[in-house]
Amino acid sequence: MSENYMGKSLRLLPSVDEVLRDGRVTEMLENHPRIVILEAVRAILTDKRKGILSGAVKMRQDIKKEEYLDMIVETTAAAVKRSVQPNLRRVINATGVILHTNLGRALLSKRAREAVNIVASNYSNLELDLKTGRRGSRYAALENLLTSLTGAEDALVVNNNAAAVLLALSTAAREREVIVSRGQLVEIGGSFRIPEVMAQSGAKLVEVGATNKTHPEDYRKAICGETAMLLHVHTSNYRIIGFTRETTVSELVEIGREYNLPVMSDLGSGSLLDLSRFGLPREPTVQEVLGAGPDIVTFSGDKLLGGPQAGIILGRRTYIEKMKKNPLTRAVRIDKMTVAALEATLREYQDEDKAIREIPTLQMLTINQEILKKRAYNLESILQSVLDKTIAEFAVEKGVSAVGGGAMPTAELLTAVVVLSPRNISAGELQATLRHGDPAVMGRVQEDRFIMDCRTIGDTELQLLAEAVAQALK
Ligand SMILES: *Cc1c(COP(=O)(O)O)cnc(C)c1O
Repeated sequence: MSENYMGKSLRLLPSVDEVLRDGRVTEMLENHPRIVILEAVRAILTDKRKGILSGAVKMRQDIKKEEYLDMIVETTAAAVKRSVQPNLRRVINATGVILHTNLGRALLSKRAREAVNIVASNYSNLELDLKTGRRGSRYAALENLLTSLTGAEDALVVNNNAAAVLLALSTAAREREVIVSRGQLVEIGGSFRIPEVMAQSGAKLVEVGATNKTHPEDYRKAICGETAMLLHVHTSNYRIIGFTRETTVSELVEIGREYNLPVMSDLGSGSLLDLSRFGLPREPTVQEVLGAGPDIVTFSGDKLLGGPQAGIILGRRTYIEKMKKNPLTRAVRIDKMTVAALEATLREYQDEDKAIREIPTLQMLTINQEILKKRAYNLESILQSVLDKTIAEFAVEKGVSAVGGGAMPTAELLTAVVVLSPRNISAGELQATLRHGDPAVMGRVQEDRFIMDCRTIGDTELQLLAEAVAQALK
């Protein structure tokens, strides 16, 4: 490319000031922070200049300066629109995975959302005892609800279950040994690994047994003067099937009593309700696990419980009291919005039927086939009204959804899906475009078909979803 051509192209490029003085940009300045617009203009001009110098940007020789300015202004408008969009935004979950960690896990019940709104918009008695006027505990109401719902002696709530495990180990087993089965050294998505959490807590890991089999005798043989605790970890997101033997929590409790050692159970998901009557796998409830007699039980607030992110610790007062005094507790404490959401969620459980109706996670887990099918046909008919038949084929089919969040990994929940095959682009391309929409949409791509699982799509989202798909296919 000639010097002459480059020089001419560079001279056509407007200055930052010229762009900022443009009427369309001054209008943008009324609605958006100056710094955002300035940064966008600078970035675009720098980019163009570099492009011209490297030869990547080729300009028509007869282009007029005004035309070029128009183009820069349009690019600026698009960049500003992108940059003022919040990074954390709504996604329509058409994956069918109910507890999708990447999509924020559990949705809150209406009461929980309202409770969050109240404490977020007003002052509250977070740490004030309204009866006495003295300092109160932010955990008091949660402790009462948790002990009354589960029968535990005492309770404590921290930031998440990873923090709960860390705090429990650091309080009860620092610089001493914790015995765990090799079959339970799990990694939970997002880098929670039992051996690593244990290292952080200062406890020493003693692995016993084999991946598929660990017998009570394996624990007994490993116990020594340094042993502080026996730990049972729910294998959550995977199952070992076939030739297996797991030592149960109640067997560990028996050994613990023999040697006067505490037993802890990291339940992972932890459900307060037995959902097997809805065709879900039979999993011991939190109450049943506590009934087996372990000293400490931990689980997440935003998995099967269906509440906010939190780590719930239940168990014997002597251990929980010690945890409350551990300085680490202050570092992993929950904020007022979590307190509000968790209290409201736990209150839903005071009436089981209501919990199933009101808590979105339980609702989605137990929803019946008829409703799913109806929703799928609804979605299909809305798609028919907004989509040109020549752009895509679609139909209602049967499918399978997953629970997610490391809960019930083998559960296969029958569901109804709408399967869509775009004619002009691939299903993968459709998914990529949908990710950039507002709201973004996440579905499943299988054999070049885009699959929308109606289990996790709200009835009020059907129109939005259909429009997003139509927009993406345009
Ligand atoms: C999910 C899970 C955790 C981590 O819980 P978070 O609330 O995500 O911190 C720990 N242990 C088990 C067994 C789990 O399933």
